[in-house]
Amino acid sequence: MSDEGYSLEELMALIRKFVQDRDWEDFQKPSALAVSASIEMGELLERFQWLSHKEIADLLKDDRYRESIADEIADVIVYMLRIADTTGIEPTSAILRKLKKNEEKYPVDVWRGKIPDKIRKKKLMTR
Ligand SMILES: [Mg+2]
Repeated sequence: MSDEGYSLEELMALIRKFVQDRDWEDFQKPSALAVSASIEMGELLERFQWLSHKEIADLLKDDRYRESIADEIADVIVYMLRIADTTGIEPTSAILRKLKKNEEKYPVDVWRGKIPDKIRKKKLMTR
């Protein structure tokens, strides 16, 4: 897997230029971007709806299905990077800081192979 050599900051700059070239900055306020990111996440979920893990794994061998998943992942990430850009939050630092918080919250020696009870209970309630 390749990331094509771009940093998150470079991708943010490319996306910012795309927006500026179209004079869309006034439309792209953080709340509108968050709504859009959520809609794009819905589009991603729609491609998984009612499918088993096995069916999804099989479908991912199909180039058209795989590309549709990649497109929705890109849509979500683009909007998330725009939110970071328009709020002045540096995404790499935010991710690293949050990972550190999660490491402290879920130490490996306690949580390896386990999921928090809250999630487990929700899963049981939906069966
Ligand atoms: Mg989309």
